[in-house]
Amino acid sequence: MPRYMRWLVYIAIAAVLAAWLSTTAHRSGQIAHSDTEATERMADQQLATCQLDPGQQEADPHMDRPAQEHTYRRLTPEEERIIVHKGTEPPFSGEYDRHFETGVYCCRRCGAMLYRSRDKFQAHCGWPAFDDEISGAVNRTPDADGRRTEITCANCGGHLGHVFTGEKLTPKNERHCVNSLSLSFTPHDQVQYGRAIFAGGCFWGVEHLLQQQPGVLETTVGYIGGSSENPSYEQVCRGTTGHAEAVEVMYDPLRVSFEQLARLFFEIHDPTQADGQGPDIGTQYRSEIFYTDEAQQQTAKSLIAELKERGLNVVTHVTEAGKFWPAEDYHQDYFKRRGRAGGCHFRRNLW
Ligand SMILES: [Zn+2]
Repeated sequence: MPRYMRWLVYIAIAAVLAAWLSTTAHRSGQIAHSDTEATERMADQQLATCQLDPGQQEADPHMDRPAQEHTYRRLTPEEERIIVHKGTEPPFSGEYDRHFETGVYCCRRCGAMLYRSRDKFQAHCGWPAFDDEISGAVNRTPDADGRRTEITCANCGGHLGHVFTGEKLTPKNERHCVNSLSLSFTPHDQVQYGRAIFAGGCFWGVEHLLQQQPGVLETTVGYIGGSSENPSYEQVCRGTTGHAEAVEVMYDPLRVSFEQLARLFFEIHDPTQADGQGPDIGTQYRSEIFYTDEAQQQTAKSLIAELKERGLNVVTHVTEAGKFWPAEDYHQDYFKRRGRAGGCHFRRNLW
């Protein structure tokens, strides 16, 4: 090969290498940029739900955790000793030991809601004590020596303390002994719950299946979308008031999103059946999402469009939520109180 040809080959190789390096660097930049945006979005969400100061976000290399780890609040060295390295604060030293205000105690690191103030009691042990947790918010793991049971935040895995049973301190006979440094209190009027309202046939079964979703804090069955005030079950059943049987869901937006709930809603009823579900026929059993803000409306519409693209003739209405009227007490938690499954409703895999 002549010398000038050899140089041409060298130049061509160099040009290809330079182009490849440039593309790789550009891609890295894009990933870093979108990660930053996601982090900022999650930080905003934390502020909206639990009023935490997210501080500088950091990844923690010590613990196995869900994908949102980069959004956690930066811990002080003492908080890290407790939450990451499973330490214990000195008794009678924590800010929540003798703290009895109305509100919610959240995870100090990730902001998930863990305990309600109504479940807090004075155990005189030197640490905050609760006899119940928010459903699904706390994981339990036996210590290596088998003598105690550790409790951790179900969302981020952060150490909370230990749970003891059989002490007969309260009727529930359980004591969650939690470090104050693992908690962050939000007063009742500042807690921002997520709220969603779904109608999909008999509300007993819809409520029962929505209650199974982690992050759902409370459900109420009731009536919405009709013309009269404070309707009774008998009036709604006659189908003349225009109300739908519906379920109001209060949820922790940090643990479950409206979109997840809406996807679940479509899976636990038949969105292609108009004005009825199975054998329950009538407009009170119609399929309808009552949105509480614009974002919910958009999400509901895009999920319906997605299902239609898949060939499902979805007839679910999407309507702005009006007044929700809670149903009579005997309809609340109907299947939970009877220890039964969801009646006509069951979950099928749609997505
Ligand atoms: Zn947490």
